[in-house]
Amino acid sequence: MEILENASLEDYSTMRLGGRAAYLTKVADRERLKEATTWAKQRQLPVIMIGSGSNTIWKDSGFNGLVICNRILYYQEEPIGGDANKTVLVKVGAGENWDKVVERTVSRGLSGIESLSLIPGTAGATPVQNVGAYGQEIRDTLVSVEAYDNESGEIVIINKEDCGLSYRTSRFKTVDRGRFYITMITLQLRRGDPVQPFYPAVQNYLADHGIVNFTPQTIRDAVIAIRQAKLPDPVLVPNCGSFFANPIIEETEYTRLQVAHPNLPNWPVGNGRVKIPAAWLIEEVGLKDFHDREMGVATWANQPLVFINRGAKASQQLLTFRDRIMHVVNIRFGVLLEQEPELLP
Ligand SMILES: Cc1cc2nc3c(=O)[nH]c(=O)nc-3n(C[C@H](O)[C@H](O)[C@H](O)COP(=O)(O)OP(=O)(O)OC[C@H]3O[C@@H](n4cnc5c(N)ncnc54)[C@H](O)[C@@H]3O)c2cc1C
Repeated sequence: MEILENASLEDYSTMRLGGRAAYLTKVADRERLKEATTWAKQRQLPVIMIGSGSNTIWKDSGFNGLVICNRILYYQEEPIGGDANKTVLVKVGAGENWDKVVERTVSRGLSGIESLSLIPGTAGATPVQNVGAYGQEIRDTLVSVEAYDNESGEIVIINKEDCGLSYRTSRFKTVDRGRFYITMITLQLRRGDPVQPFYPAVQNYLADHGIVNFTPQTIRDAVIAIRQAKLPDPVLVPNCGSFFANPIIEETEYTRLQVAHPNLPNWPVGNGRVKIPAAWLIEEVGLKDFHDREMGVATWANQPLVFINRGAKASQQLLTFRDRIMHVVNIRFGVLLEQEPELLP
């Protein structure tokens, strides 16, 4: 097991910011994972597991512990049930590149995760914030999560129902933050074509391009085209995707806002609550394509929810920029935006 000392965390966040980790290692199987956690326990060091850092912001103070990068690779399909092999369980190692997994399942004619194409990061991180895009969320197809429980030292299976999955969150991000190191996820996919209605942006893209053949591949291609037009590639432009989750507010609160802002879009989510787009709020206060030269951070021209690093040297600059945006939105709408990427440690 190779353990790096005093590793720069900038290389482990797509925002390219952060201090240093006292120790950092990469694990490619469960045995190495156990070895790494034992090594840390013997030295009484805290541990953080990450995938590829596309939803992570490291503090400038760094981490006085062991960062474990999950590189566990595995992929297996298992047809189940008596429906002519139409239902397929897919077991995926947590360290697999998520988009490669989507590409693979799509090429096998499997439906269920095609709209989650091009989301950066690893498979193991997908349940952590219940990743979602273009009408699909990982909870729609997730069956269970296999994880190393750092409390018991055992490998455990956690069924989807016990993962506490809801909009951009889970028990792994909240009550059990840092406890489980996910080693594998199991998905239930369907052999066959996806069915309409698709997410409005996808539906429009298909109509505009005269696409009437709805296969996992045509939906994946549409989602990739939409995303590439809208979002910066983190390899070229440092960013960590949407910086805020879409606020979910009470219907009464929405009605109050709608009086002053009749065009405010909304999606009812049940229980008298409504989701509103954070990007709309930021654009409305004039902060789309806003470049804060003092902080070296900007909002992306095609999607103001994405913050890009334009020369910032410290995470604190990013956080100051975040606070400025939150403040302006709060003053104007009385809505407190909630940060989506995790600030670690
Ligand atoms: C350009 C861009 C677009 C994006 N678009 C979307 C989108 O459409 N929808 C969406 O939901 N997200 C999106 N994201 C966010 C991000 O891609 C996802 O959250 C992704 O799942 C993070 O994967 P990762 O491996 O990089 O996680 P990391 O950033 O490495 O980790 C994120 C969190 O999960 C924990 N974690 C990671 N792996 C494990 C594991 N194996 N076991 C236990 N804990 C773990 C970490 O401790 C950390 O708290 C986007 C990001 C970017 C840069």
